[in-house]
Amino acid sequence: MIRHRRFAIAMPAPSRRPAPPVTLLLPPDLLEQTQLELREASGGHCEAIVLWAGRPTADGDALITHLVMPKFESGRDHLTIPPVVRHELAVWVRSERLLVFADLHDHPAEAFLSRADVAAPFSTTNGFYAAVIPDFAVGDPGVEWRLYEALDGQWHERPTSSKFHELSV
Ligand SMILES: [Zn+2]
Repeated sequence: MIRHRRFAIAMPAPSRRPAPPVTLLLPPDLLEQTQLELREASGGHCEAIVLWAGRPTADGDALITHLVMPKFESGRDHLTIPPVVRHELAVWVRSERLLVFADLHDHPAEAFLSRADVAAPFSTTNGFYAAVIPDFAVGDPGVEWRLYEALDGQWHERPTSSKFHELSV
């Protein structure tokens, strides 16, 4: 079982991954829950990671419906998701007919895509996002996060405001 939180929002029917650029539609509580989960899992001393999963909308956006917390192994400046967990995650995502649209991990201090992050990304699927959260996520939700979009094997930094669309209640 993969630990997750399902947001109370209507699920679109399953469909294929939309072509980039993909706008992420975020339930009202998602940024705060993400920040809190990372902060708690890091405990001020090790990196942590969560995933955003959901389904495409008819308009080609991505509605995030699940905050997913896979098990990981980490230290102060490194993190890995063991292969067995990645497999378990893939099976669960498929069974729920979800797509993972972003991974989000925190750093001890500055948020940036490190060499280790580039060397071992969670995914390099076109249009996939990787977000990095500074200061072991002790700050306010979404503040000073940095966001990168995978396109043709390269990472491109994007303002979160251009890719995140927070839904109102
Ligand atoms: Zn990193």
